Amino acid sequence: MNYKKLDKNDIEAILSIVKDKERVYYGENINEDYSHDELSAVKVMPEIVIQVLSAEEVSEIMKYAYENSIPVTPRGAGTGLVGSAVPLYGGILLDLTKMNKILEVDKENLTLTVEPGVLLMDIGKYVEKFNLFYPPDPGEKTATIGGNISTNAGGMRAVKYGVTRDYVRGLEVVLPTGELIELGGKIVKNSSGYPLKDLMVGSEGTLGIVTKAVLKLLPLPKKVMSLLVPFPNLDMAISTVPEIIKSKSIPTAIEFMQREVIVAAEKFLGKRFPDNSSDAYLLLKFDGSSIEDIEKDYEDVAKLCLHKGALDVYISNIKQREEAIWSARGVFLEAIKADTSEMDEVDVVVPRNKVADFIKYIHDLEEKHNIRLRSFGHAGDGNLHVYILKDSLDEEAWKEKLEAVMEDMYEKQRELRGQVSGEHGIGIAKKPYLEQAFRPCDT
Ligand SMILES: Cc1cc2nc3c(=O)[nH]c(=O)nc-3n(C[C@H](O)[C@H](O)[C@H](O)COP(=O)(O)OP(=O)(O)OC[C@H]3O[C@@H](n4cnc5c(N)ncnc54)[C@H](O)[C@@H]3O)c2cc1C
Repeated sequence: MNYKKLDKNDIEAILSIVKDKERVYYGENINEDYSHDELSAVKVMPEIVIQVLSAEEVSEIMKYAYENSIPVTPRGAGTGLVGSAVPLYGGILLDLTKMNKILEVDKENLTLTVEPGVLLMDIGKYVEKFNLFYPPDPGEKTATIGGNISTNAGGMRAVKYGVTRDYVRGLEVVLPTGELIELGGKIVKNSSGYPLKDLMVGSEGTLGIVTKAVLKLLPLPKKVMSLLVPFPNLDMAISTVPEIIKSKSIPTAIEFMQREVIVAAEKFLGKRFPDNSSDAYLLLKFDGSSIEDIEKDYEDVAKLCLHKGALDVYISNIKQREEAIWSARGVFLEAIKADTSEMDEVDVVVPRNKVADFIKYIHDLEEKHNIRLRSFGHAGDGNLHVYILKDSLDEEAWKEKLEAVMEDMYEKQRELRGQVSGEHGIGIAKKPYLEQAFRPCDT
């Protein structure tokens, strides 16, 4: 595609649409942060940044860009990990963070209507006031809901509650042509034609710009409790997960973590984790309307873990311990990042009973390529985050090793019949591996 470079006339046209010059940045006034996201190594500066305020404004800009072949990249908080908010072809970067109003909580239909720039953490806090609950719980709470919707973000409650797509009832979207459409609404069911709303969720800004969303809410669970379960090794921890799933006690989260990641988190936070003496841990969360409601589930799971070789089971029923555990879990990514010079990630998802195979394979890869790999993730939904660390490698050796490790990991993912991304999306970073995944079976 041959995109047009912006000239003086384009900038004037954009300024006449936006009117408020304070929200338009071009040339040297563009902040460097807009050239990258949280992890992707690719950096490209946009030619112009517009902090939009309304769907109408987005619509007019999109129409102008469409008619003049100017590329547009929407951006939320820029916490993505695969470069999908990087304006790869320059052009217009639409910053949606100022469209950040919570528009309506509907207590009869249990929905929340929001603009796309509302932060995930603000949604949680807001609906709790009404004893309501927005279940998706991705690790980065400063992400916008528009970003979460556009990446179909997952997170730590997916085992019981599912992912963002399961909580999007309706969307208002500006199409590339500038046309404003509504998909879904406050309705609970819908068999009226193609599921375009669901296609829009997870499309990473390639199909349109989300300008409003109607989210599904649930009653707020009154009791929450976590179990931290140390195991002698990761293999034993991970192979317990399919047994937990089989037992039909449904935790909201089943996370796995290893000692070295916990130690990195302790160093990063300057705080002690309740225990770091074992090689591997499962962290489980349960919720329900009363303690009695969840007691049987967590007792059954605790017994099962001990039977499978767990060294102990720590019940986290006091707020301080709960906070210490989950705040450490929340910084794993940053802690690993702070512990090396550069890193890249893999976010594959495999069937839950194949997680142990994948983890074992990662350990072999560490030796094969003589490189540090760190992993943690959502064992309960088969979604693993593996970080490849550059450490002191020079640029050439790093590129070579990274490519070789990635190739091996994605080959294993295909062998285990998994998918390229469980929740972070494709962006720029995962595009070659998505293409491989779609190759005909016999090539
Ligand atoms: C520490 C850390 C932990 C994380 N943990 C998780 C996790 O547990 N689970 C998970 O899924 N992700 C996780 N992420 C990744 C990231 O937070 C998510 O991908 C998040 O959904 C991105 O939201 P954002 O607002 O930052 O979007 P951005 O990074 O700005 O954009 C992401 C994509 O959405 C598009 N986009 C943004 N807004 C709109 C809009 N209104 N309309 C159309 N397209 C739009 C962009 O073009 C881009 O393609 C984590 C990231 C970090 C740094």
